[in-house]
Amino acid sequence: MPQFEAKSYAFTEFPPAQNFIGGEWIEPKGRERIEVINPRHGKAMSTVPMCGTEEVDAAVAAARGALAAWRDLPLRERAQVFYGLRERMHQHLEELTWLVSHENGKTYDESKAEVLKGIECVEYGCSLPNLAAGDQLDVSRGVNCQIVYEPLGIVAGVTPFNFPNMVPLWMLPQALVGGNAFILKPSEQVPLSVVRLAELLTEAGLPPGIFNVVNGGKDVVEALCDHPEIKALAFVGSTPVAKLVYGRAAQSGKRALCLGGAKNHLIVVPDADLELTADNVVASFTGCAGQRCMAASVMVAVGEVDHIIDAIAERASKIEVGKDLGAITSEAAQKRIVGYIDDAEKKGVKVRVDGRGKAGDAGGYWVGPTVLDGVDATMPAWSDEIFGPVLSIVRVKNIGEAIELENKSPYGNASSVYTTSGDIARHVMGKVSAGMCGVNVGVPVPREPFGFGGWNDSKFGQGNITGWDGYRFWTAVRKVTTKWALQKDQNWMS
Ligand code: NAD
Repeated sequence: MPQFEAKSYAFTEFPPAQNFIGGEWIEPKGRERIEVINPRHGKAMSTVPMCGTEEVDAAVAAARGALAAWRDLPLRERAQVFYGLRERMHQHLEELTWLVSHENGKTYDESKAEVLKGIECVEYGCSLPNLAAGDQLDVSRGVNCQIVYEPLGIVAGVTPFNFPNMVPLWMLPQALVGGNAFILKPSEQVPLSVVRLAELLTEAGLPPGIFNVVNGGKDVVEALCDHPEIKALAFVGSTPVAKLVYGRAAQSGKRALCLGGAKNHLIVVPDADLELTADNVVASFTGCAGQRCMAASVMVAVGEVDHIIDAIAERASKIEVGKDLGAITSEAAQKRIVGYIDDAEKKGVKVRVDGRGKAGDAGGYWVGPTVLDGVDATMPAWSDEIFGPVLSIVRVKNIGEAIELENKSPYGNASSVYTTSGDIARHVMGKVSAGMCGVNVGVPVPREPFGFGGWNDSKFGQGNITGWDGYRFWTAVRKVTTKWALQKDQNWMS
């Protein structure tokens, strides 16, 4: 696979994505190929094969052959590969950035931020030799207990379209430094960033068969869930699929962690700082064209906050579609988003800022920033994940009502409060039903080393996907009890 040559938004083709199995690029035989669309242009920039059980079996065989030598390396040596990956990601930062932008549709700046955040995840992997020492204690006279983190074996990951570079890097550093062999199925909408990651990992010294890529959709995911040799599976995507995958993976005895969708509530109270709140809320619901699981989706307006809503509307209407705001992933997604705006309008909601009919300069799929004022809890604009640059404002009388509304959502990824009162902030942070919370923060992503993961219908499984929890997810804890003194007396431990 050559480098990706783009240096601007100009339409650029890329060779067809292939599977990466046993360290080789493999063209699957007799499989349908679908188009990989550049959403900014609405045109095919590449194709991707839609594989199934056969290719998953081949990847498992390659992983099986490579695993023993890899898991026998000291952890510190395995981590060296990620130092090498970090260096190469910096060297190729422009290339990786444009690749994300072209296959996903986000702006150059957003794409660069994604790759840099991916690098932060790689750095966590580099730090594991200093973190994964384990614990030991003399539990009795001459008797020591030690904890050792062992690889699980062959493991797998399934990733979504909205962060083609970063989400795979939520998984790979901990899983691979932990001594596993990995099979990744990237989103069929954005398979190309993973192609480049596979190459950079290989250049950085990862042995063949330790990282494998099998392209496709549902069939590949089901084959990964069902394969008895795959010991753990992490999934990131929408809630209905996360739930299905969690159930199916668990049925075959796997460890599973499945992150789902979101409907993040931002609670804004009258004492909130006007500038900071307006800037933050707008950045949160329009960033990545609202196609991120941490995007603001509902603003809960507590009491008299019209001055803040006015400032939000003013800022949102100034955003230039195509320049400041990227494309929507597909025509179907664009229609879905517009459908929610139409439905809310029909139900009497005021469309304060209307993103319908907005377009970038190169064809493609677009929705401009949209502010819906007067949504209520009976409407799909409140309950459903719209996954576009749409802010649904629900007005409530007091903080109690705001918390009740937030708690009613089945999701639980993120929630924030905007206030200058420590007392209010503390109260709300103690009551909202979400895993990642913010005080005057629009996108409360826990940066490394803090783990990323929501609650409720935003996550199925235990723990977080990044940070130390990620390492724990991809490893098994062995407890070793050793009697050093060779005591011959009998006790209950003998
Ligand atoms: P998606 O659920 O449609 O697809 C995710 C992955 O699942 C893809 O690789 C896809 O090929 C596969 N897939 C799709 N349908 C399947 C099925 N029926 N059976 C098995 N596998 C299937 O999600 P998407 O549209 O790619 O991504 C957007 C969604 O991901 C949003 O809901 C967003 O909130 C969520 N997301 C969540 C997080 C998080 O951390 N919680 C992060 C990023 C994205």
